[in-house]
Amino acid sequence: MTYDPDNIFAKIIRGELPSIKVYEDDLTLAFMDINPQTRGHTLVVSKTAGIDLLSTEDDDLAAAIKTTRKVARAVDKALSPDGIMIAQLNRAAAGQTVYHTHFHIMPRWQGTELKLHNTIPAVMSEIEELARKIATEIE
Ligand code: AMP
Repeated sequence: MTYDPDNIFAKIIRGELPSIKVYEDDLTLAFMDINPQTRGHTLVVSKTAGIDLLSTEDDDLAAAIKTTRKVARAVDKALSPDGIMIAQLNRAAAGQTVYHTHFHIMPRWQGTELKLHNTIPAVMSEIEELARKIATEIE
């Protein structure tokens, strides 16, 4: 597979599609997942073109995982989950649906199951409010 520069996340990075942003720096962008599997489900994308973890350069991956930890810490403070799941899917057989390198941050609560992947649309006002809470806690 070759990288498609018109994939959804590339368009979000270029500002051609909207996103509910939580954090941004030179190399990465974090925003709310619009089909959240848990309350507070947030995505971190590398701004560098790459299909998945296997094909992404070390420096870009390092930046993405640093931002993932930074945002996960903010999610932890903002939402006080019982745990935080980090996911990263490579190729369709693993469930990947957007072919641009990214990490999922999914806060988890005891007794609450994950919702289906990329299936149930968020209530936009709810994830906008969650994004504000998380962004406030970014250090
Ligand atoms: P993956 O299947 O690992 O590639 O994850 C892609 C994720 O992107 C899924 O969890 C989708 O719900 C999410 N998603 C798809 N389109 C958008 C969008 N426009 N804004 C935010 N999240 C999106």
